[in-house]
Amino acid sequence: RVVYVNGRFRPHRNAMVHVEDRGYQLADGVYEVCEVRDGRLVDQRRHTERLLRSLAELRIPLPLPLAALDVVLHETVRRNRVTDGLVYVQVTRGVARRDHGFPPAGTRPSLVVSARRTDREQNERLAAAGVAVVTLAETRWARVDIKSISLLPNVLAKQAAREQGAREAWFVDRNGYVTEGASSNAWIVTGAGAVVTRPVGPDILRGISREVVKDALAAEGLTFEERPFTVAEALQAREAFLTAASQIVMPVVRIDGRPIGGGRPGPVAAALRRSFHAHAELS
Ligand code: PLP
Repeated sequence: RVVYVNGRFRPHRNAMVHVEDRGYQLADGVYEVCEVRDGRLVDQRRHTERLLRSLAELRIPLPLPLAALDVVLHETVRRNRVTDGLVYVQVTRGVARRDHGFPPAGTRPSLVVSARRTDREQNERLAAAGVAVVTLAETRWARVDIKSISLLPNVLAKQAAREQGAREAWFVDRNGYVTEGASSNAWIVTGAGAVVTRPVGPDILRGISREVVKDALAAEGLTFEERPFTVAEALQAREAFLTAASQIVMPVVRIDGRPIGGGRPGPVAAALRRSFHAHAELS
């Protein structure tokens, strides 16, 4: 395996950044995760747009031209011979003597791009069975629309989920509404057949898979409702599922230990999973 680190491909075992990198010391950076399918990037354009937006919000410049980033992404996939997998991109504010304020002008942001394989069949088996989620109080900051590498609440939530035998944790805001998962967007299908997810805003990440599913819903003539839903409503839902580049559309069959839709994946989630890549852009 090789990893792109600040202009060079390095062997994975010694692909390193400096101890005074602001990502390491202050979580001062952003990231993206893009699916690779049949050796091609899934929705690269939208992932790049979101990366640029996250960077702009934090006033971190992209340390290379966009065309060069495009080459690096594809080259990382190619050199690692990834057919099915994920590409990870991280940009931090760079290496500088530790100080909370921005580093001196001219400090070069650090860029790391890595790729790894995933097991498509294993993911399909997981989707065929569905996953469990647990709910817990929203503890993140007020700008989770920025895809920041500062992920402590997500780390703790994911671990809490694991310790309860679940794959994902859904954060719940002060009013009882689900915001999103620790690393995914949250969806339900109501008894009336409407597919519901929370509107975008500062309190959720605008998932690229979420956008793809919106397009798929429109194409398939399914009713889409962009509104917050409560845990109580989710527990009564006909189906639930989550979306993320690493999961595509993943059926949720248990919430806080209670079965959803009879504890089996539902037809809407299954159909959206099947048609997903027809609505994504491969490059
Ligand atoms: N919400 C959070 C907090 C995430 O970390 C992610 C990323 O995996 C998502 C939602 C889904 O975003 P995407 O579909 O772009 O992967």
